[in-house]
Amino acid sequence: MTELNLHFDNRFIRELPGDDSGSPHSRQTPHVCWARVAPTVVSKPRLLAYAPEVAALLGLSVDAVESENFAEVFGGNRLLPGMAAYATRYGGHQFGNWAGQLGDGRAISLGESVNSQGERWELQLKGAGITPYSRRADGRAVLRSSIREFLCSEAMFHLGVPTTRALSLISTGDVVRRDMFYDGNPRDEMGAVVCRVAPSFTRFGHFEILAAQGEMTLLRQLVAFTIERDFPHLSGPIEARFAAWFSEVCERTAQLMVAWMRVGFVHGVMNTDNMSILGLTIDYGPYGWVDNFDPSWTPNTTDEDLRRYSFGKQPKIARWNLERLADALMPVAPDRKLLAAGLIVYDQVLQREMQTMLTAKFGWLNPCDGDDALLGEIFGLMQQCEVDMTEFFRALALVDVRQPDVQTLASSFYQPLLFDNHRALLDDWLQRYSERVLSEAENEPTRRERMNRVNPRFVLRNYLAQQAIEAAEQGDMAPLHRLLQAARQPYAEDCPADLIAKRPEWARHKAGASMLSCSS
Ligand code: AMP
Ligand code: MG
Repeated sequence: MTELNLHFDNRFIRELPGDDSGSPHSRQTPHVCWARVAPTVVSKPRLLAYAPEVAALLGLSVDAVESENFAEVFGGNRLLPGMAAYATRYGGHQFGNWAGQLGDGRAISLGESVNSQGERWELQLKGAGITPYSRRADGRAVLRSSIREFLCSEAMFHLGVPTTRALSLISTGDVVRRDMFYDGNPRDEMGAVVCRVAPSFTRFGHFEILAAQGEMTLLRQLVAFTIERDFPHLSGPIEARFAAWFSEVCERTAQLMVAWMRVGFVHGVMNTDNMSILGLTIDYGPYGWVDNFDPSWTPNTTDEDLRRYSFGKQPKIARWNLERLADALMPVAPDRKLLAAGLIVYDQVLQREMQTMLTAKFGWLNPCDGDDALLGEIFGLMQQCEVDMTEFFRALALVDVRQPDVQTLASSFYQPLLFDNHRALLDDWLQRYSERVLSEAENEPTRRERMNRVNPRFVLRNYLAQQAIEAAEQGDMAPLHRLLQAARQPYAEDCPADLIAKRPEWARHKAGASMLSCSS
């Protein structure tokens, strides 16, 4: 049997109090941060896909990942020596309201593996069965949502967006019943388990639940633990460390928002329980990618009316979420002014990095007076004229700024008529854009190259993921593997043409291909 050589050092359960009973029954778990619970056995675990880069991070060979033992372990049927299975306790603000205890309802951690470089990677199965935090739900995940989490985690990583990673996608051989449209017509779907990997899965909600329940000693303990384990570079007396820590959480969250806005990613459920303390993208549910540029777009059908989590609102919502984290930390902060200072860091980093990001996306070298007007105009036009965000920026790189021709941008429009109707306005904008580029006297190949490094050619468009899902449900994994391959080089020029095509018309309103429910 090929060895799965992993070394574990499970600090979270060693250093923080837990409920050791092992009982999976649904309950409140006051005064602890975790509860021991074994994954529920599945009937026929089968490896459908894995990320070789993540296996390498953990020090796992290809043979080890493709062994039968791997599917057994990462499908949830067996624990390796040193592993410990547990679910963690957190709360959260959902859609703006305090929701009480939530917790890992279908995620079960298997421990913190430490690789040969001493890097710590927590392994967590998603869809591994009920835990004390499952409430009335089944603890399972369906294949379709597992494929979406698996693919998008890796796509985001290769785009340069901070994210949890995905090691493996395993079908369980069991069916899971889901009402995908919440219309009273549930159907049986294939079950799956994703093993996700991150240095820490701690969320804002882990702190919030303790503050909400008045468990201040434990809250203090979790803060100290988080700083030590997850922010080991911070040093000095506790007051200084606390300030630096909260400020870094704010800074990382700002960087994350800028990264999402750069690539057109919409998380869809930015509840505080889905916010990582490390500023990673976490919990891939009804997320989506912007096709036609539209700040008011949300992929989440549950959010259709309020649009709280729409594309353009994400930076504001992150700020609101950080404020909820600050509220939770208030009772244990050495000085509450430190929290206000952290939030100001968020605003400053966000503003500075958004400007840097946009300057780079448009191919300019340095920000300059008048840029805001140019940006405002083009974003307005892009929204009005249904312009594909991804395609637009790659086309903009191709514009010959010495003889700008608006036709270069035509391919990024969904409706030729809208292009024709706005030709004069676009032409006028492009003239001024080109003068702006020329004012920095850089050669064209260099500008193009710089732009193509920040403007992806391939993004995991919703309809592409949906096609891979439909094929996988029929037993054909080839489209999924092809997407994973493309996701590895999202900025490369030579991506297969069908994977970089704008959203086809049939996908505009198709469930799964444009809008998604939370049912997963
Ligand atoms: P989410 O909206 O996926 O971030 O989940 C919100 C909360 O519901 C978290 O506590 C999840 O663990 C829990 N949850 C979601 N789906 C399930 C499920 N199928 N079984 C148990 N808990 C779930
Ligand atoms: Mg969640």
